[in-house]
Amino acid sequence: MSGSGLQWLLVGCLVSLFTPPPALRLMNLVGELTAMTTKKCINCGEEKPLDKFPYLQKLRADGSRGRMAECKACKCERVKAYYRAKKAKLAELEIKRAEEAVKTALSMREAAQQANQAFPILSPAYWDVKAAMRAHEELGIAW
Ligand SMILES: [Zn+2]
Repeated sequence: MSGSGLQWLLVGCLVSLFTPPPALRLMNLVGELTAMTTKKCINCGEEKPLDKFPYLQKLRADGSRGRMAECKACKCERVKAYYRAKKAKLAELEIKRAEEAVKTALSMREAAQQANQAFPILSPAYWDVKAAMRAHEELGIAW
């Protein structure tokens, strides 16, 4: 009799090893009952299945991976809108830059005048072209 009692005690110990404690079982039950299968998007407000929500990049403290509050369609639209706005802004900046370049650009005449002011020796006034032509003629070099 005492032998079979010991056996039952052993079986009881083994069973308790493989069954979770009551508190954990209750938590699992609550988890199963409240497990979300759908979620409401914070942007469009539609109730959608969980797989329509992108995963979060960071893991939670317990190692599980959460999902974004925004559905995939809304995220996609938001990202597209961001890049459209960025592209438009860049195009606008490029136009402004081109307009500035035209405003500050010098004509060839103005550039030559400024160069001559900066370096007077470059001015044609310092160069006797006719004398140079005569010198070429005297030496028999083509002008
Ligand atoms: Zn949405």
